[in-house]
Amino acid sequence: MGSQPMFILSDDAERSQGQDAQQSNIAAGKAISESVRTTLGPKGMDKMLVSDSGDVVITNDGATILQEMDIEHPAAQMIVEVAETQEEEIGDGTTTASVLAGQLLAQAENLLDDDVHPTVIVEGYNEASRLARESIEEMSIDADVDDDLLEQVAETSMTGKGTGGVTPERLAETIVEAVRGVESAEGIEREDVHVRTQVGASSTATELIEGVIVEDEPAREDMPRSVEDATIGVFDMDFDIREANVDAEYDITDIDQLNDAIDAEEGELRSYAETLAETDIDVAIVTGDVEDRAAAYLAEEGILTFESVSDDDAAAISRATGATAIGSLADLDGADFGHAEDLSVESFADEELLFVEGGDAARSVTVLVRGGTEHLIDELERAIDDAIDVVTAAIETGGVVPGAGASEIAIASHIRDRAASIEGRRQLAVEAYADAIDIVPRTLASNVGMDPIDALVELRSRHDSEGRAGIIAEGQTGIVDDPMEYGVLDPAAVKHEAVESATEAATMIVRIDDVISAD
Ligand code: ADP
Ligand code: MG
Repeated sequence: MGSQPMFILSDDAERSQGQDAQQSNIAAGKAISESVRTTLGPKGMDKMLVSDSGDVVITNDGATILQEMDIEHPAAQMIVEVAETQEEEIGDGTTTASVLAGQLLAQAENLLDDDVHPTVIVEGYNEASRLARESIEEMSIDADVDDDLLEQVAETSMTGKGTGGVTPERLAETIVEAVRGVESAEGIEREDVHVRTQVGASSTATELIEGVIVEDEPAREDMPRSVEDATIGVFDMDFDIREANVDAEYDITDIDQLNDAIDAEEGELRSYAETLAETDIDVAIVTGDVEDRAAAYLAEEGILTFESVSDDDAAAISRATGATAIGSLADLDGADFGHAEDLSVESFADEELLFVEGGDAARSVTVLVRGGTEHLIDELERAIDDAIDVVTAAIETGGVVPGAGASEIAIASHIRDRAASIEGRRQLAVEAYADAIDIVPRTLASNVGMDPIDALVELRSRHDSEGRAGIIAEGQTGIVDDPMEYGVLDPAAVKHEAVESATEAATMIVRIDDVISAD
């Protein structure tokens, strides 16, 4: 090939290499985490996000902010993924995870400037992350049997989020009750806890329903709107004429023949109601069409019928009532019917909602979220979803750790203790990791208006003397105190996941020394 240059990239491909690539990746990652920093903690600010089409989202939730922002830079995109992973795996701690990832990058930049090789940084970070998880294990407190602790965890996850008029204590109680409601020997089926929003009343009207709520209205107005002790059939079929009884291809020669055909049709439409009336069924949930006359016969029989019910709604009702979907009336079997203590249709503003409560096999619960405006209710729903996630995580993994930055102070201190015995430059990376962890208490302090350096000094000394110290918002500023005394607790799983995903993203970005982008 001689000295001929070989082109392996197309003309319009862009490439940056070595330090340039590293610097631009690190800068992008840092910038992203910087953008959510001010929302961290109880006094975190909200962000208003306006899309191209003018839609407005007001939120304090890290994952939501990063999702709504249109982020293109690939390294920045990796930090967004940290928040997304955190959201999927645990549901809370998204801001913490992305702020931590950004700070790990900032520390890595200093190390690179000091000529610490990227591989050494990666090794040191991985070692430090192991130490961090060890420290989280050590300080975990078992919470799975204690509703008070669980309520505190729920409340902690909701602080800083707008909950309108409803007190966080009441919401937390509702949420713990909801999760407990779907707990069984096999654990918690997270999907059985539904959250349903309904604009209109004040947020104080938010309540727990033991069952499911779907948006559906009766097929006819003259059907009953509520049934107690209801037997429910879920039908995955149409209630209409299966075959044309009057076929246009036949010449109907006399009026009797026509009448016969009409009678046959009528008979078939009537047969649905007649067949159901022979069973105990009070309510028919039909995913297909219900012909108007069939509906009229059902109404005559007093059977509350819903038509064109979505598959999702039908599945939710089946699950909540113990019903099995029925595909044909030929093989009706009582064992397929579901039961609910109370089934009722209620009007809300311009919607009709079907409440299915207290089934035999009731496994589902629904938090019915009320609120005056769409924005309030959306943020309330996100807060409740997060709280359900953390309570689930705390029960399933069993552990909670002190919040308000106290666990981070403990983690950093544990890492620094062990760093001393680590040989070579890797020690610098391990120490840098501990410094990065400090970003959480530092940010919490500055978001409540404290001087972050002074706060850090006080936090460390209180941690050393008393074992626990966090940033507690008080009045116009904050104080350093034991978060357990204020009921500020996070699930250990939130911290585990944040440490893991932030480390993974940061080390991946640090390793990159060549960015090739084909347009
Ligand atoms: P994230 O998206 O990481 O969950 P948040 O804005 O919810 O971000 O802030 C979480 C942090 O705020 C945690 O470290 C938590 O312990 C802390 N925190 C929550 N409530 C309080 C409180 N009342 N006082 C002090 N810190 C709190
Ligand atoms: Mg949170």
